[in-house]
Amino acid sequence: MTRSSPDGAGESSVAGGPVGGAGSAGEVWSLPGDRELFDREFSRWLPESILDAHVHVFEKGCLPAGFRFAAENCYTRFGGEHTLEQCLSAAACLLPGRRFGMLSFGTPHAAVDREAAARYTGSTVDNRTRFGLALVAPEDDASALADRVRRHGLVGLKPYRNYVSGLAPEAVRIPDMLTPVQLEMADGLGLAITLHIPKAARLADADNQRDLVALCRTYPRIQVIVAHIGRAYWLSNVVGHLDGPASCPNLWLDTAMVNHAGVLEYAFRHFPRERILFGSDAPIAWLRGKSVEVNGQYAYLMGEPYRIGSSIYDADHVVSFTYFYYEMLRAVKEAALRVGWGAGDLEGFFHGHAERLLGSVARGLYGGS
Ligand SMILES: [Zn+2]
Repeated sequence: MTRSSPDGAGESSVAGGPVGGAGSAGEVWSLPGDRELFDREFSRWLPESILDAHVHVFEKGCLPAGFRFAAENCYTRFGGEHTLEQCLSAAACLLPGRRFGMLSFGTPHAAVDREAAARYTGSTVDNRTRFGLALVAPEDDASALADRVRRHGLVGLKPYRNYVSGLAPEAVRIPDMLTPVQLEMADGLGLAITLHIPKAARLADADNQRDLVALCRTYPRIQVIVAHIGRAYWLSNVVGHLDGPASCPNLWLDTAMVNHAGVLEYAFRHFPRERILFGSDAPIAWLRGKSVEVNGQYAYLMGEPYRIGSSIYDADHVVSFTYFYYEMLRAVKEAALRVGWGAGDLEGFFHGHAERLLGSVARGLYGGS
């Protein structure tokens, strides 16, 4: 069984495996009800600008010649890549009338050429509305990594658990994902780091709690963006577990793939709102499905036959799905309503906070105003 995590990183791949359902942006996405849904639920509510702080953008050239994702990998859905053009086309389709910016990075698959991925990401950024991160493994030389970031105009790093070798996946801790020398370099440059935290207990894990706070305090110039609110996709995983992270002024949350209004409401109430960033995990978020809490766990109910972790595919088409992206917006809308967020709060969440953070990192690296 080949699975990909919601971070888009296939844990294994099948070279030469079957490729089914490949599609390009906009090709098969928009059903008649989708635009009506957008107009009804979001058109008067969603700000005009979006800076999506969690997007995987890469081209096939970042992978070895002949490489193919497994048939059930979500990237197969998009022809084995998610280029800038595909991404912007999808954003235009799903978010009509909105200016779409992003913080993007490649897919942290073991087979990816990290220099090629950084080069491609760099070709897509402008450091005003589009920013990028370099994938990083512990084995990467720190000075070469600093050069890679600067040469490609990037603003930081994207480590990932499966780049840590020599440890069982569940044994990996946050300090294993970047070396002290890499962290010193990142601190010196004031880089952003999007962190997909490890361990089955995720945000509720005591080691993760200690490691996150220690990371932020030891390296106060690194801006740590904890992806997916620490992968807390169900309520009990977040409740009581944001106080330590909230105490660190250089720790941020992105909300990628959080479909749960209760989780978002808790984060909005218990974490400084100016450090919460909207993110989606596109292209996964372009798929049809919904993440749901089930008995103190969560599952991705899938409307399309792709596996993204703990997924359950509705092969009988019992229900009609819309995009994960819209389910995220619905959850944000509900949570924002519950906590009484106004238009200014939504502007900050959907783009202002990310512009402030990433703009500041970019100015520190490249100057400008
Ligand atoms: Zn991701």
